[in-house]
Amino acid sequence: MIPDDVSLRRDIVEVARQAEAMGMVMHSQGNFSARIPGTDYVLVTASGVPYVNMGPDDIVTVDMEGQKVHGIHEPTSERAIHTMAYRTYPWVGGCVHVESPYVNVLYTLNLTIPNILGNFVYLFAGKGLAVAPSLKSGNPDFARITLEAMGDHFGVVWKNHGMFCVGQDIRLAFDRCVAAEQAARVYYLALALKLGEPDLIPADVQAEMVAFAEEKGWGRAV
Ligand SMILES: [Zn+2]
Repeated sequence: MIPDDVSLRRDIVEVARQAEAMGMVMHSQGNFSARIPGTDYVLVTASGVPYVNMGPDDIVTVDMEGQKVHGIHEPTSERAIHTMAYRTYPWVGGCVHVESPYVNVLYTLNLTIPNILGNFVYLFAGKGLAVAPSLKSGNPDFARITLEAMGDHFGVVWKNHGMFCVGQDIRLAFDRCVAAEQAARVYYLALALKLGEPDLIPADVQAEMVAFAEEKGWGRAV
């Protein structure tokens, strides 16, 4: 019998809809997944199903290699990186890929998000986002190269495409995407005013924030 988790399906739908409401994905872009706790099965969003119409029954179950085992649709074409993330990081319970505009703007200009906002420092343990090269997504080579770039970070930018964040659960993975997009937006706006170099969070304050995040368990693998 294939395991299932209806409340986790609902969580995935809710997170995907929130991402669309926040302008981090449009229509059916991006993809969202969660590992069914204690199993080698993953629930993922379907390929090409608009979030506005999506319900828990549209979520697809795949195995750890990304092969569909249950569902009425085909799983996302970017499932290879989700399942490879679960195989690589046993502590990861959720993965979120969004195509958020401010992150994309900064990284196409070869800028990176600095530690300009507290939430970004907390949720990425002060390490920020890793950067992967601009590649065609949706195959195992892309997944491998991107996860090698991610290393011990909690999120990675796919250049000219979007970002991918992991977490102990899908909500933490999504919180990370939100924190990164918000920091990218603030940095972009601060630069756009052209009134001077934006102040960043002082190093000693960053260190306090990272210690707090470690204590809370946001900034470490568990
Ligand atoms: Zn994408």
